[in-house]
Amino acid sequence: MAKIIRPSGGRKSSVPAVPKKPAKKAAKASPKAAAKKTPKPKPQQPKPQKLKPWTPAEVYEAFSRFRKANPEPKGELEHLNPYTLLVAVVLSAQATDAGVNKATRALFAVADTPDKMLALGEEKVRDYIKTIGLYRNKAKNVIALSEKLIAEFGGEVPRTRPEIESLPGAGRKTANVVLNMAYGEHTMAVDTHVFRVGNRTGLAPGDTPLAVELGLEKVIPPEFMLHAHHWLILHGRYTCLARKPRCEVCLINDLCRWPEKSV
Ligand code: SF4
Repeated sequence: MAKIIRPSGGRKSSVPAVPKKPAKKAAKASPKAAAKKTPKPKPQQPKPQKLKPWTPAEVYEAFSRFRKANPEPKGELEHLNPYTLLVAVVLSAQATDAGVNKATRALFAVADTPDKMLALGEEKVRDYIKTIGLYRNKAKNVIALSEKLIAEFGGEVPRTRPEIESLPGAGRKTANVVLNMAYGEHTMAVDTHVFRVGNRTGLAPGDTPLAVELGLEKVIPPEFMLHAHHWLILHGRYTCLARKPRCEVCLINDLCRWPEKSV
């Protein structure tokens, strides 16, 4: 049975684009040139794809440092079993882990199985989670996925990606989190933090979460894959921050390819 993880803070779990860099000031234009339409400034950050790829030795070194610093990294979504983990991940779309935990503590105390969730009913589920964004739709999904788990999977959370993705409200990221945290599979769930770190460091550049996921799976040695997802999330959440990365305390600042790192 999975452990309950108590969070110290939370961040959005959505997957926005890589943060934009401020544009440089435009050069002073002559009156003639000023009369012409000023072209839009180009983004200042080089395309991640142009960064020098990491060598296998560098990747090994980076993850060895993550492992040494935090041998057993934990996720921050509280849950009691695979079912409550699945529900928590479904509720976490466009919401913070801290916000989800606040609502699910009371919900899971009364409903930690699909049967109990159905007995509670959609209206009451809605009441428990009304502090979470999109709660009406999410309450519908929680009830619908519980019904499907009972009807098609004997009340258990299935162990394959297609089966998990077939559940209402669950997508690829949900499947990756559940397969990794509940069943120990070597999956890589890409949230906003992993997406940013993969691109910014040059570890696994990609325009989409799927491209970053596949890139990370390709470069990270199998011995690190069980925990790689959490190391990268925690690195993005607490060190490689979106607006002001803390490069001076970063464990991998000598390996990182980001041209604008501050060390
Ligand atoms: S050096 Fe800076 S930009 Fe690079 S991974 Fe570390 S915190 Fe992020």
